[in-house]
Amino acid sequence: MVQDTLTGTVVAPWSPLYDTARVDYNSLFPPFSPAYIVYCQKTLDVKRAVHWAVHHKVPFRIRSGGHSYEAYSLLNGGLVIDVSRINHVHYNAVTGIAQIGAGAKLLDIYQELWDQSRVSIPGGSCATVGIAGLTLGGGFGLISRKFGLTCDSLESLTMVGARGQILEVSASRHPDLFWASRGGGGNNFGAVTEFRFRAYPVSDVSIFFLQWEWNRLPEVLRGFQQWSDPRLLDDRIVAILTLPAAITRHVSISGQFLGEPRELLPLLAPLFAIAGMTEKVIRAMPYIDAVKHFAGLSMDPERWIAQGVPNRETFKNTSAYTFEIFSDSAIGVIQAALLHVPGPASLVQLDTYGGAIARIADNATAFPHRKARACLQFQTYWSEPAQNNAHIRWVENFRRAMLPYTIGAYVNYCDGNIKRWPRDYYDGNLARLLAIKKRWDPHNVFRFPQGLCQLT
Ligand SMILES: Cc1cc2nc3c(=O)[nH]c(=O)nc-3n(C[C@H](O)[C@H](O)[C@H](O)COP(=O)(O)OP(=O)(O)OC[C@H]3O[C@@H](n4cnc5c(N)ncnc54)[C@H](O)[C@@H]3O)c2cc1C
Repeated sequence: MVQDTLTGTVVAPWSPLYDTARVDYNSLFPPFSPAYIVYCQKTLDVKRAVHWAVHHKVPFRIRSGGHSYEAYSLLNGGLVIDVSRINHVHYNAVTGIAQIGAGAKLLDIYQELWDQSRVSIPGGSCATVGIAGLTLGGGFGLISRKFGLTCDSLESLTMVGARGQILEVSASRHPDLFWASRGGGGNNFGAVTEFRFRAYPVSDVSIFFLQWEWNRLPEVLRGFQQWSDPRLLDDRIVAILTLPAAITRHVSISGQFLGEPRELLPLLAPLFAIAGMTEKVIRAMPYIDAVKHFAGLSMDPERWIAQGVPNRETFKNTSAYTFEIFSDSAIGVIQAALLHVPGPASLVQLDTYGGAIARIADNATAFPHRKARACLQFQTYWSEPAQNNAHIRWVENFRRAMLPYTIGAYVNYCDGNIKRWPRDYYDGNLARLLAIKKRWDPHNVFRFPQGLCQLT
């Protein structure tokens, strides 16, 4: 009997919770039909769940925040091991370390750390993304140029391995797993139940929003790329260039600065010099308020939002990295794509890299894209299922058209259409990741369509 050996809360197809428990954040995917979903409350529940699934030869997936772009934390007919109830956040002011349950969601983490000690970790902007998926794939956010990717602050973690063993992982204990857990992607080596991160003091920040008419796109894109040279841009700034569909009539640069507006103003001067600016807003606020702005929780989300809102959405997003300033032909490709969109909520966004992200070697952790100038996010959102194909095709055509000007892709923006995903996600770190996979999970217990197990 399942209930005899799975512990935590077991949700079966006849349970009242089942319908809400079997959907991904991305409503492009219809509800899945897992045999069971087990909500684990502690590491022992996860250990039993992995053991049960392996013993009964039942395929399974691990889920934290449920925000996988391709719904890789769900499956039909198997077991979903859900860690979202392991969501504690404890900060130790003496050690400077935050202990965070693998199911904690980003806004809850930021709020807890702020309330407890005015500290934070460099995570992503969406309120409801889970810490596990984010960290295991890298994790980029609005303080990353100062403090690095989320995985760069990781000190240690607890993981349930392929044999159901509980593993304490750090630089000194199972260093190969520690290396792989910082960029190697979720669901590849084990089920993480707790992370320990170094946290950093935060106080007031400045946020900014600059806007131009859409027809200024070439000048704005060129000016942005020159200004955001990863070696030169002040580490305290993270900026996002948003290039939406032409019909929206505007392009914008938004971002955050760890400091006061009077220090920020001269740093933004090269952007102010780009002709035709129609709007300029710079505002100081407590760090936690800025977190909420970028999560789309306050003010006007249309204007401030960088990534995501805390509801389910139907979307197709993908990514690529740029290491060069775009040529005129690359800019032409971008303009053409944005002139012929399947719907108004179609855009490409450039997130600035460099700073602390780039000060770590490409092979020091499993995350390989550290020397990029920016991460490109090709995004489209819609609501009518009849429009699915047109939107998915637009993103794929756009990504392909940009291939001559870009390299790689971000594993956390997973995309089932990328055929060469092992190379694109992991680049020069792929061989080492596969060796670690073979050592720790030789029977491919942790598997999914873009899992490293598909290759060993
Ligand atoms: C709206 C939105 C905004 C986003 N914003 C950002 C951003 O600002 N910065 C950024 O870097 N990324 C961002 N992302 C991408 C995000 O990092 C990935 O989607 C991430 O994988 C989500 O993690 P999750 O735990 O919520 O998802 P899940 O779907 O639960 O998990 C994602 C993957 O990790 C695996 N996994 C989950 N939990 C565990 C665990 N405990 N142990 C081992 N494997 C596990 C899953 O099996 C799955 O393969 C955003 C995504 C969305 C949808």
